[in-house]
Amino acid sequence: MSWQTVIGLEIHVQLRTRSKLFCACSANFGDPPNTNVCPVCLGLPGALPVPNEGAIRLAVRAALGLGCTVHRVSLFARKNYFYPDLPKGYQISQFEEPLATGGFLEIDGRRIGIARLHLEEDAGKSLHDRFPDLTALDFNRCGVPLIEIVTRPDLRSPEEGRAFLTSLKRLLEYLEVSDCNMEEGSLRVDANLSVRKPGQPLGVKQEVKNLNSFAAVERALGELRDLQVRTLEAGEELALTTYTARTGELKAMRAKEESQDYRYFPEPDLPPLDLAAYGIDPEEERRLLPELPQARQARFERVYGLSAYDSGVLTATRQIADYYEALVESGIDAKEAANWVMGPVLADANLHGGRLRIPPNRMAELILFVARGGISQQAAKRMLPHLAETDQPVALLAETLGLVQVRDRDLLDRWVNETLQSHPGEVQRFRAGEARLLAFFMGEVMKLSKGRADPKLAREVLLERLSLKE
Ligand SMILES: [Zn+2]
Repeated sequence: MSWQTVIGLEIHVQLRTRSKLFCACSANFGDPPNTNVCPVCLGLPGALPVPNEGAIRLAVRAALGLGCTVHRVSLFARKNYFYPDLPKGYQISQFEEPLATGGFLEIDGRRIGIARLHLEEDAGKSLHDRFPDLTALDFNRCGVPLIEIVTRPDLRSPEEGRAFLTSLKRLLEYLEVSDCNMEEGSLRVDANLSVRKPGQPLGVKQEVKNLNSFAAVERALGELRDLQVRTLEAGEELALTTYTARTGELKAMRAKEESQDYRYFPEPDLPPLDLAAYGIDPEEERRLLPELPQARQARFERVYGLSAYDSGVLTATRQIADYYEALVESGIDAKEAANWVMGPVLADANLHGGRLRIPPNRMAELILFVARGGISQQAAKRMLPHLAETDQPVALLAETLGLVQVRDRDLLDRWVNETLQSHPGEVQRFRAGEARLLAFFMGEVMKLSKGRADPKLAREVLLERLSLKE
């Protein structure tokens, strides 16, 4: 009987706010160390935390997007532990009564349960590369607002874990809750995994921390699964080990004695978090949610007749989906618009840091110009970079760039004659019945015209000349 893999994820997501969770310090990434600090986030005596309404609203929005039940009253709690990057000696988090519970996210038609979603503040950062043999501390991150999302152990493979994270990131970006930038640490993943024989109770759970990309999550979980199966099949027992995968390779961190005791207790400096006190009504917030990515993808398939793959690409971000729909609304055929966006438009964006540089109305103008026979598809692709840089009308720009299709009979005659004269052997073979050589002649004419010959007319002229006996 084979082994079944059981995976759960804990995801920390930085909320998109200007200031921290309990003080007015900037939450900006990348500022010089210890420039965004104050008595509150350093935990100096007498300083009192004041919750950030914007952060609470974003957390509620994330919870609603995940189909959670949002609790109108929840509790802040102290999570106590000693670590140099935590000047207060505790983090303000939520424990017994979190902001939200019981949601789900669907992956390929399967519901992955969300056990809870709660608010908490981030800790500081230890820097090991500033001074030789010394650790430096940067407290800028202390108090930055996070949500922690905890899944149920519903994931069944490392691949599914990765698919879940990709889908979660897309959702959070649509909701504009977080920029989900993993390099800057605004989305961090801890994963736990156990294996069991089907029908048996859950096996010993081991954890992997410090995973810095979704690919790293998938790889580390795959390794951990294999390691557990090998250990169990050798008749050995699994220890409660926590691993890190910072270097891309699993490394045991510390022997974990049961679960760490954080001595949680209700935060004495804060009253219960009553959403009404901040004017936040979960029902009202639900009505304000944008169309969520999975619903939008399904609508693209249904309304525009796109494949699941295409509609997945076109809804990968809210910006791409909006761009696509702007093209369709300006009268471009849905399938044709999909081809243009998934091809040249995204290729151009990839060259420019993911920025969709060409305004959709300009793109629509170009597509219509191609449809009217103004320029070839090839020439249009060459025009794309210029479209982003000037607002000249497309027709004028095509002329300036020398890309307009040539229908002038004299010019076409000249290109065709020149082609046939330089390839007498091929002409003979064509006339002897080798019809496929037409493509070769066409290629030569297009080369001579630098891609400007109207292909339909050029073909007509070629056939006409080739049928003449000389
Ligand atoms: Zn502060």
